[in-house]
Amino acid sequence: MNKVRTLFAATAIVASSAACASTSYETFDQEAQQALTPDQALELLQEGNARFVAGESIDRDLIDQQLDTADGQFPFAVVLSCLDSRSAPEVVFDQGVGDIFVGRVAGNVVDTNLLGSFEFATAAAGSKVIVVMGHTACGAVKGACDGVEVGNLTALLDEIEPAIDAVSTPAGTDRSSANADFVNRVVETNVRMQVNELLRRSDVVRGLVEEGQVKVVGAVHDLATGEVRFL
Ligand SMILES: [Zn+2]
Repeated sequence: MNKVRTLFAATAIVASSAACASTSYETFDQEAQQALTPDQALELLQEGNARFVAGESIDRDLIDQQLDTADGQFPFAVVLSCLDSRSAPEVVFDQGVGDIFVGRVAGNVVDTNLLGSFEFATAAAGSKVIVVMGHTACGAVKGACDGVEVGNLTALLDEIEPAIDAVSTPAGTDRSSANADFVNRVVETNVRMQVNELLRRSDVVRGLVEEGQVKVVGAVHDLATGEVRFL
């Protein structure tokens, strides 16, 4: 069977009123990937999240997609997310094998290895959008708020410190993990700061953004609803 462009397949599936378990859904080929604008790539993620939240995730033939992509991949997006088991990008954005690149680290903070990976994903492999996605009630952010120091985790949590410092609160406010609202404000601030860090530290990605070939956006995944809010 010829490859069906994910964009059209997804649109058709969203348009159909009944969820259909046997719907064919295949991965991107190079032509389909390159035909997408960054905004259209972002829309695909938003539509996928809407399906996930509605309980209408596509019933894919994953082994078929695995075999179909064995000779090449043309993912349309890159997502940097937290390590958290409840915030897996492929699930949250309802994507299959070969659809998106994913980088994961507790607290979704960028580092040299991740930046190199994103440069590969965009400049070499053609992805159109990079999403830095935090999530509500993040354990890494909570740990940073509480000043947790354990092994290598200490250095990782230090990366979140600037976001904590950037969130101002009235005197007497509880700035520990016990304050869920404060934690979520740090989560959002950290996402915004990591987007800025990514653009500041990667000449390659910044160049693609300036050319209009790639978009970098922040997002927060709400664990209580499944919804991803783009910033
Ligand atoms: Zn987390």
